[in-house]
Amino acid sequence: MRTKKIYHQFLKAYILIFFMVLVLGALTLFAYDSYTETRLNKSSIDFDTFIEDYDQNRETAFSKHAFQPDDFIVITDRDYKILDAVNLTLSEGTTYHDLQLLMGNDELYSTYIFENESGSRVYHLFLAPLSDETNSYYFFLAIAFALFILFIISYAKITGEKIIRPINQLNDGVREIQKGNFDHLIQYEAGTELDEIKDEINRMSQHLKAEIEQRKQLEEERSKLMLNLSHDIKTPLTNILGYAQILTQQDLPEQAHQQAETIYRYGLLASNLTKELFTYSRLNSKIDFLTERLDIVEETRRKSIAYLQEFDSLNIQYDFDFPDKAIYCQLNIALFSRAIDNLIQNSIQYNHQGFQLNMRIIETLKTVQLIVEDNGIGIPKAYHDTIFNPMVRVEKSRNRSLGGSGLGLSITQQVIKKHGGSIYLDSSHTKGCRFILTFPKA
Ligand code: ADP
Repeated sequence: MRTKKIYHQFLKAYILIFFMVLVLGALTLFAYDSYTETRLNKSSIDFDTFIEDYDQNRETAFSKHAFQPDDFIVITDRDYKILDAVNLTLSEGTTYHDLQLLMGNDELYSTYIFENESGSRVYHLFLAPLSDETNSYYFFLAIAFALFILFIISYAKITGEKIIRPINQLNDGVREIQKGNFDHLIQYEAGTELDEIKDEINRMSQHLKAEIEQRKQLEEERSKLMLNLSHDIKTPLTNILGYAQILTQQDLPEQAHQQAETIYRYGLLASNLTKELFTYSRLNSKIDFLTERLDIVEETRRKSIAYLQEFDSLNIQYDFDFPDKAIYCQLNIALFSRAIDNLIQNSIQYNHQGFQLNMRIIETLKTVQLIVEDNGIGIPKAYHDTIFNPMVRVEKSRNRSLGGSGLGLSITQQVIKKHGGSIYLDSSHTKGCRFILTFPKA
């Protein structure tokens, strides 16, 4: 059965607040009562002597006693018919009932009733509140009200904390899971349903962790398989290719010669593909590549110069803009060369002669940017997000007889990632391709 602890918590809070209101109300009433009860005792009025004085001289009686200016006395007969009023001017025809109605609004006036000995007169004493007492009464009310508000605020804070703190911890925990930190356990004891949510999230996180580890393991096994497979196919393919080449050089009948050439051509394609697959698998495996501190400007310059003859023979325009100083990066020179070769050879392979190829190096505070761009046919925008994925090739070029493996750019990206850098295809470059490679400086 589902527990309803948060519900109980709120219920408890509301019941407590209800009782608090009752207690404060009772206290206020008590304060009011004790104030009114003592009002006469506190003033040094001796009402018996007042009655005597009144009987002797009505005019001076009031001033002789310790009445306050706002006090007054109404004298009625037993039927409450007003006979006289001391220190109060009543208009003609005012009844005691009118007076009661009037005074009913002023709850702070204390009223006392005395009779004279014969009982023919009833003295109604209306004592105005003593100013310091009124103040302390209001002060008491204010304190009670403030205490009540304080109680509500602190109670809300305490009960709120019990809910807010766990929720914050849940938030933090979910954020950690988002970051991939599955070892982070959410730990709190709220004593409410929030404990169940915590347990569920912790369980989910452990479940995710196990699943991701399993997937990683599968991925590793697959990479290993690809690596071994491409490595094992490489050797027999090289043999087939060698013999096919020997066959093409033999004096064979025309048809057999053509068949040998076909075997050789497809063998070459298969061999290239296998080599690329092997490189890609190696880059994806856990094998570490050694790097050394090298001047990336010098290495890029050396690579580009090696292509000059080919550029000239293919009528390719070029422009190199490299800084005049050395900039050092940690490089695996074989892999770095491979990445640059892939980009330059793609430009040569996929563009018509006469295009322009530019290479630039820009130094930033912590990185070096190497830009390789051409003004050729470019890669359609639809491919920009996936072009670095393995086996992604632009439709048109698929039919080329000398088409590559579709692994070139993935290998380039892996190489650059191994160097702690990144590569992207600049979509703002509209004519041709602009690849921007970023390497961290050593
Ligand atoms: P491949 O081994 O087939 O060349 P890549 O991964 O190197 O595979 O390239 C993927 C696709 O990107 C290629 O099929 C090609 O169509 C396109 N491509 C790569 N570089 C360029 C370029 N400089 N100009 C035009 N298209 C390019």
